[in-house]
Amino acid sequence: MIKKLISGLNHQLGTIYCIGRNYIEHAKELNNPVPSSPLVFIKPQSALCFDGSEIIIPEQSSDVHHEVEIVVAISKKGKDIPETEACDFIEGIGVGIDFTARDIQQRAKESGHPWSIAKGFDTFAPVSRFIHATEFEDLGNINVDLSVNGVNRQSGNSSQMIFSINYLISYLSSIFTLYPGDLIFTGTPSGVSQIRSGDQLTATLGEQLVTLTVSVK
Ligand code: ZN
Repeated sequence: MIKKLISGLNHQLGTIYCIGRNYIEHAKELNNPVPSSPLVFIKPQSALCFDGSEIIIPEQSSDVHHEVEIVVAISKKGKDIPETEACDFIEGIGVGIDFTARDIQQRAKESGHPWSIAKGFDTFAPVSRFIHATEFEDLGNINVDLSVNGVNRQSGNSSQMIFSINYLISYLSSIFTLYPGDLIFTGTPSGVSQIRSGDQLTATLGEQLVTLTVSVK
């Protein structure tokens, strides 16, 4: 098992939880229904990488998309966490990109198969450093942006989430015991598109409070 200490966090990496379709405009752009409860999937630890990494387009896919997302790091063990106490379980907030092999995901969706392969290739989960949640005035009002080769492609705000950060922590903990070092990718706003070799992607949170830059090999 790969164990990595993430910049800004005191814990080694735990489970990487991800939420699908958490912004209405993104659900619409892929012709997906808006969910009535969070859509949850998990990425392997081997997908994790960091600022400055090279993203690898796997030979199995010819259509890898970027999905910029606010990422929450969990501070302590918790089960059945009430939504009103969820903020006590946040160690840090960062930005990440949920890379997705859209062609593989589409085939999986059509045949009712899980998304693990489409979402789980090496380097498909880059994350920035993490900063304390108190750096943000309001977790329900965080800007998240992504530019590709200097051109803005995705802009969102956590106020547009269908399920809030605190709700997601509460919901996940009703199913899984959360542990320090677990990460939650909280879903992407609209504007996802294909990446190509040589692209430079920069993700930011807040007013450039946190940035993540990766290049595509
Ligand atoms: Zn995503």
